[in-house]
Amino acid sequence: MSSSEADCLFCKIVEGDVPSTPVYENGTTYAFRDINPQARVHVLVVARQHHEDAGALAGDDPALLADVILAGVEVARQEGIEESGYRLVFNTGDDAGRTVFHAHLHVLGGEQLGLFGRPG
Ligand code: AMP
Ligand code: ZN
Repeated sequence: MSSSEADCLFCKIVEGDVPSTPVYENGTTYAFRDINPQARVHVLVVARQHHEDAGALAGDDPALLADVILAGVEVARQEGIEESGYRLVFNTGDDAGRTVFHAHLHVLGGEQLGLFGRPG
């Protein structure tokens, strides 16, 4: 394990060393509630394996990226928002407000979402 993985918050959450509220899991992915929800439903989906961001995950293991997206769809189904609609988001870099360096998919929905792009 590299030092970045040892220090990685979401690796610790996957390992159960940091508590989280589970929503869905399978052999390759884990989904849990965002601690600071930006919509009625706000769930994060991560691969159990550490990859820094969505681009790295796509390059290193495209099938695992597909697993993460399919887990996001399953979360939407479980949360009852598959029909009403939802947003899947990967943030990358400072302008996107990215704060955790373990690729994670935001699943947002459960109400009409705002526009995204420029603030305000
Ligand atoms: P990002 O800005 O895309 O890097 O998203 C990181 C997300 O992780 C934010 O929405 C945070 O609210 C969320 N977050 C940070 N710490 C935790 C935690 N311990 N448990 C659940 N979600 C967290
Ligand atoms: Zn990690």
